[in-house]
Amino acid sequence: MNILVVGAGPAGLYFSYLARRLQPRWRIRVVEQNPPDATFGFGVVFSDKALEFLRGDDPQTYDAITPHMEAWTDLTVVHRGTPVVIDGIGFSAIGRLTFLRLMQQRAASVGIEPEFLKTLSSSGELKGYDLVVAADGANSIVRGVADFGTTITALTNKFAWFGTKKIFPTLTQTFVENEHGSFNAHHYRHSPEMSTFVFECDARTWQRVGFSGMAETATLQFCENVFADTLGGHRLVSNKSVWRNFPNVRNARWHAGNVVLIGDALRTAHFSIGSGTRLAMEDAIALTKSLVEHENEIPEALTAFEAARRPIVEKLLAAADASGSWYDRFPEQMKLAPRDFAWSYIQRSGRIDPARLRKISPKFVDG
Ligand SMILES: Cc1cc2nc3c(=O)[nH]c(=O)nc-3n(C[C@H](O)[C@H](O)[C@H](O)COP(=O)(O)OP(=O)(O)OC[C@H]3O[C@@H](n4cnc5c(N)ncnc54)[C@H](O)[C@@H]3O)c2cc1C
Repeated sequence: MNILVVGAGPAGLYFSYLARRLQPRWRIRVVEQNPPDATFGFGVVFSDKALEFLRGDDPQTYDAITPHMEAWTDLTVVHRGTPVVIDGIGFSAIGRLTFLRLMQQRAASVGIEPEFLKTLSSSGELKGYDLVVAADGANSIVRGVADFGTTITALTNKFAWFGTKKIFPTLTQTFVENEHGSFNAHHYRHSPEMSTFVFECDARTWQRVGFSGMAETATLQFCENVFADTLGGHRLVSNKSVWRNFPNVRNARWHAGNVVLIGDALRTAHFSIGSGTRLAMEDAIALTKSLVEHENEIPEALTAFEAARRPIVEKLLAAADASGSWYDRFPEQMKLAPRDFAWSYIQRSGRIDPARLRKISPKFVDG
């Protein structure tokens, strides 16, 4: 089989690694527009048991990545300066660049060397392959070659992805209200020396502040001032930290002809539930499995991939959508007292009912 993989993010790298490992005869070409050490953002978090889903089938990758992860067992919600700890809601995190390097090493260990600085720019370049794996992210170019029934809906909040040298003990959600409006920061350490700091606010606040016409230094300074207590004198660091609206990407069809979508090209999951990277890797696992089971029968393999994966993905997306829309409306919740606010926060995705919460977070519920 002759496979083209477009994109060497988590989805493309993990798919090509797994496919080569399971079927060394397959020819796999990976193209990536960026150099190997380019990345946006700082860290990524993984919810719950992080990479547990890899442990059984791919202990080598699990062992390669987990020593580089930061992990904690509680989550903190800060509202009106009052921290409320929600016990038992564990997360782990890793720098995105560290993660990509480790995935590149895993791919290299089975002979996969992506062609970096190679941008796929025309549909003609997709010809001559038995299978094309579109792992080219939320703004996928490959998606343009067929009718996948794509919809992209932007959430209304504005966010920018920063870093800071301040090291936070847990994943913390800090909410601040001032004369301009309401602000939120998602912040967590992703290495012993560095934390991720995602700054977010609603569209009206963003306009009132005048962020659209503000230079980068002034923007950083404004954000630092809003979260001065949280940062404790530390600076924010920028890395292509442009203002964005989160795009909810959905596709009615997951494959067309010999082209299949995986990762963010297939769908995005709001970052507040910390699942986009894991979903991308799980897509890679499911796709490889279907291809191995239906070798030389691409249409059957792609149908089986979608049938197996769609119900799981849709459940998670329902939670991600609910969480994303809670953030889009968070200023309405700011009138709540800190503990009620934390309760609203933790119920936002609809995944944790009060009975389950009592089991997971007994101290918080008792409080
Ligand atoms: C603010 C923010 C915070 C996030 N936080 C988290 C988090 O905490 N936890 C989490 O799990 N996820 C998080 N995510 C989501 C996560 O980043 C994605 O879900 C994940 O990276 C998807 O992997 P991917 O490989 O599908 O896509 P990408 O990581 O986007 O990779 C796609 C690759 O394709 C390449 N490419 C694109 N077009 C072309 C082309 N024409 N030719 C060649 N190459 C091309 C790109 O350069 C890129 O390397 C966050 C996202 C955002 C925006």
